[in-house]
Amino acid sequence: MIRVNEHFLKLKAGYLFPEIGRRVSAFAQASPRADIIKLGIGDVTEPLPPAVVAAMHKAVDDMTTVAGFHGYGPEQGYGFLREAIVANDFKSRGADVAADEIFISDGAKCDTGNLQEIFGLDNVVAVTDPVYPVYVDTNVMAGRTGGNDGTGRYAKIVYMPCTADNEFVPELPEEPVDMIYLCYPNNPTGAVAAKEQLTKWVRYAIENKAVILYDAAYEAFIRDDSIPHSIYEIDGARKVAIEFRSFSKTAGFTGVRCAFTVVPKEVVAYTKSGGPQPLHPIWNRRHCTKFNGVSYITQRGAEAVYSPEGKRQNQAIIDLYMSNADVICQSLKRLGYQVYGGKHAPYVWLKTPEGIDSWSFFDVLLKRANVVCTPGAGFGAAGEGYVRLSAFNHPCRVQEAMERIAKL
Ligand code: PLP
Repeated sequence: MIRVNEHFLKLKAGYLFPEIGRRVSAFAQASPRADIIKLGIGDVTEPLPPAVVAAMHKAVDDMTTVAGFHGYGPEQGYGFLREAIVANDFKSRGADVAADEIFISDGAKCDTGNLQEIFGLDNVVAVTDPVYPVYVDTNVMAGRTGGNDGTGRYAKIVYMPCTADNEFVPELPEEPVDMIYLCYPNNPTGAVAAKEQLTKWVRYAIENKAVILYDAAYEAFIRDDSIPHSIYEIDGARKVAIEFRSFSKTAGFTGVRCAFTVVPKEVVAYTKSGGPQPLHPIWNRRHCTKFNGVSYITQRGAEAVYSPEGKRQNQAIIDLYMSNADVICQSLKRLGYQVYGGKHAPYVWLKTPEGIDSWSFFDVLLKRANVVCTPGAGFGAAGEGYVRLSAFNHPCRVQEAMERIAKL
């Protein structure tokens, strides 16, 4: 008799975005003339930078000639892209990363979800609350957790609350943990972690023989040079941290698909007998077994993100999103709302008015301002009492959304 992987049955239903979709379509059906502005899902709205498009066109032309044709490429990615990443993302910030420590992939969602496979099932997972749900759900699927307690939390996971009091960067856990997921700039709170805060976490990981899984998918939105873009800007991080990056939000690649993961050669996990085992060869083995590389055309497009024109064009797009974030923050502050994030991240974390929970405020914004946000409670218990507004939209739509909220 074929048996199902019962860990999947522990998963709570994909509640957040389907429920948002359900409420939005019910409202749209009831009010067909409503002009709904979506500041909910974090998908980019601006087209690809022209330098990226030109590089991809050229790569398509390469593929039409015998000399320029590319079939299967290296699973880890082409040298031209890995070298460009090292020079521009790491060396430029004094972070020590080598090209062969970079694994090009088709998304940080897949990477953050897949990487847990190389760790034993008896490790204790620590996540922030609120959290990007992929970290939790993939550990549930793997069997590293107990059941869902009905409030959305799973047994055996250590939840680290991120609140206004700790500036949305968690305290060190009181019980020992092994796999620590951190994401800065943060989705959904828009918070960033300062060098001292990350240093504390790297020290903890070294002392406790833990590994930090650091999601830096939004690093390009940081506007203060003193804030680390990479965990490898912190001394000792090469021993204990794996970093995830993505071209999705930083270069408009959500529909193109390209990302990368850094696994330093020094980072280890331990066998039952306590022997250190480098993770780089294990991830390399896993990656090559289950993945056949990102397309040549896509990688040429990603390489162009680092060309002088690509950088300039891309920065202009990031500036546009961040000026949307400024408009959201300033408008809401003027109206007396408490807002967080939005300075170094494309997300604004808005405290709902006293006595109104996340979903009720979602309904108020939808029905009375025709603006879609994301209820904070969908990201975890500590997200209750907040909603997330995304800066990914056209400036005129963001302005219009703020004018409508002002009239509430
Ligand atoms: N990590 C975080 C924190 C995200 O918010 C997202 C997308 O929303 C991703 C990863 C996924 O990135 P990708 O498009 O590269 O799969």
